[in-house]
Amino acid sequence: MANAQRCCLCQFEISREDVVTESKYGSLRNSPSYSYLYLYTVWEYSFLRSCHRHCLDMIPRPNPQRLAGIAEAMKYEYIPSSRQMDIRHRKIKSLLSTELLAHFAHLESNLPLELWSIVAEYLLPYFASANLQRLWSPTPEPSCANISKPIWCKYVDLEGNKYIAAFSNDPSSDDWELIFQPSGELIVDIFVGGNHFGITKLLFSSSHNSPDVDEAEGIWWRKVHVEGRYSSIRGFSDGIKLRHLMNVDKDITAWSVPKSDNVRFEHLSPSFVTTLPARMASLDCNCPAIVGYSILWECGLVTIHVHRIDEDRFESKRTQGESSSPVSILVILQTGL
Ligand SMILES: [Zn+2]
Repeated sequence: MANAQRCCLCQFEISREDVVTESKYGSLRNSPSYSYLYLYTVWEYSFLRSCHRHCLDMIPRPNPQRLAGIAEAMKYEYIPSSRQMDIRHRKIKSLLSTELLAHFAHLESNLPLELWSIVAEYLLPYFASANLQRLWSPTPEPSCANISKPIWCKYVDLEGNKYIAAFSNDPSSDDWELIFQPSGELIVDIFVGGNHFGITKLLFSSSHNSPDVDEAEGIWWRKVHVEGRYSSIRGFSDGIKLRHLMNVDKDITAWSVPKSDNVRFEHLSPSFVTTLPARMASLDCNCPAIVGYSILWECGLVTIHVHRIDEDRFESKRTQGESSSPVSILVILQTGL
């Protein structure tokens, strides 16, 4: 469930069956009003956080500052969809069962992958927490680069996804990747791609070279205008991956594909009473390859899916796990399908 109470360290649900124990740490305290749900809580920036006891026990010499720093690295910018949560669950389960199979490969009685997959289901919060604490650093590598010079970045793998950990004009090791080579054209925009967890990609655009990127589920793009204002950029790290660029003017709204200069908001009500959306999805129209649309309706518009002529099967698309009673509307644009 997307709205369930989640552990601030592993982001898996806190079960009602979890048993409350007293806090071992003076500055970490239980919340009596929620004691049936929470094992440990800590006040951090005025927000109450909660976590599994076993996740907390995995932190060596825990203290509120370290706990807050690690929890910050695990924080979601927004609540992802149920489908995104399911994808995360499957990826971590697959990673863990594969690692278990490899770890016990020397044993004659090693289990097959299918059985390790069942074992992994019970160990997901431990695995997520252990990975997080292995990767987190209280002093992450700084990210700063001049946009008139080549820029390299260092990636980090977390839960089966690749995030940017740092960028620089001077790579500190061979595993850094070149992401920008100046061509002599003036850079006017930087497109920052990422999900609810951190930045996955940076694209640099001149006025004659706008990025052409396909939509990818869960990835959203913010445009940062840099022309004439900034000669360098800096990134903010949560200790594992970059969260956002600092000291730049960026769009409030994130887009499912890099935003075109031709797109603008028009408001039917006065703009001062209108709040810009946090995320906007694009929809292809007027393309000869489009043969229909699927519309999912549930007390309002949920999704519109574009069907193209090269799809294997032309059928109504449903969003899995969102609801038990949505209405699917199929709009066919060509006859004979
Ligand atoms: Zn946990």
